Amino acid sequence: MSFESLGLSHHIIHSVKQLGYLKPFPIQEQTIPVILSGKDLMGIAQTGSGKTACFVMPILEKLQQQEVKRDRNIQVLVLVPTRELAIQIDEVFRAFTGHLKREIKTMAVYGGVSINPQMKGMLGVEVLTATPGRLLDLIHNKALSISQIQHLVIDEADKMFQLGFEDELKQIFALLPKKKQTTLFSATLNDKISEIKNILAIQPVVVEIAKDALDIDKIDQVAYHVTAETKGPFLRYLIKENKMNQVLVFVSSTRTADKLVEKLLKNKIRAISIHGEKSQGSRRDHLDYFKKGDVQVLVATDLIGRGIHIDALPVVINFELPRSPLDYVHRIGRTGRAHDAGSAITLLTDEDMHHFGVIQKKMGKTVEIKPTTDINLHGY
Ligand code: AMP
Repeated sequence: MSFESLGLSHHIIHSVKQLGYLKPFPIQEQTIPVILSGKDLMGIAQTGSGKTACFVMPILEKLQQQEVKRDRNIQVLVLVPTRELAIQIDEVFRAFTGHLKREIKTMAVYGGVSINPQMKGMLGVEVLTATPGRLLDLIHNKALSISQIQHLVIDEADKMFQLGFEDELKQIFALLPKKKQTTLFSATLNDKISEIKNILAIQPVVVEIAKDALDIDKIDQVAYHVTAETKGPFLRYLIKENKMNQVLVFVSSTRTADKLVEKLLKNKIRAISIHGEKSQGSRRDHLDYFKKGDVQVLVATDLIGRGIHIDALPVVINFELPRSPLDYVHRIGRTGRAHDAGSAITLLTDEDMHHFGVIQKKMGKTVEIKPTTDINLHGY
């Protein structure tokens, strides 16, 4: 199947070609015609499945047919749980606006940075990607109105609830017009997601992409049995011995992230961290450095476990296990994305063994756990 046959015009196809997309992913085949037809849609899909383009392409396709708006009424609102995802989705919108029939202004807004430039930049924005809290601040400051939106997108809906955005979402929903098209993406279905459906009074077409579409099978997973003492040296051994040039290392806390970076730098491994206590500016810069390959190791908390795409990331290491099995899958899903293969390495101490058993069970896959006692870590 081709992009043309999904009902997209050459204005969009031009950008598709520039991006090097050869053919639609399964989720795109199933969702783009639905969104183009104006129906509400609920997609159960993991990050990495190509879901962003599912809504970006048809939304721009339709919007370009309309008259340009130069006021503070947003036409398309995309709600996302994190700042990083807001920036990333806005980038995808921008990647598709280059050859449209007319100019369409898009913008991402999120907290943690000054609100003034966002307020000033709002005039004429038609497509806004926003985190809930900052969106409400902007509305209260009369920087924009969402009372006339045509299309609402809620991305990573389950994560929104995990992060405690329920009240904000309800406040936002109360400000939306009755008549609008809604697209919702969530990695999982639960009662909260059903509640959104009820509040928004939608009866969406449901498209579910099988779990294996996250490419779990393509990811080469292995775990190593370490001790609290050998964990750090073993990580450095892995990085150095395997000459890892781009590795994303997950930890559970901000403190560990900072401590680990310090240790890696001492050992001449170029590392930086990204976590919730970093300013928005430095989070963005650090992610950029890492994406460009300027640093070898990015140490991250689960803040970026979801939604963030790094082209052809070869390795992810779990320095610490996440509590939720779903977060484990999201973490390792940073590698092996789209058509690339990837490798996920997990370091386990005795205390982690039981929980890792739970994770493997939930994931439906067994991961080989290798001993490390015969590895000489001297000098690492
Ligand atoms: P997403 O799940 O939206 O974050 O997308 C995951 C990755 O797949 C991104 O790097 C996209 O640019 C890429 N992608 C999306 N659709 C296609 C496609 N049809 N062909 C090739 N790559 C794609």
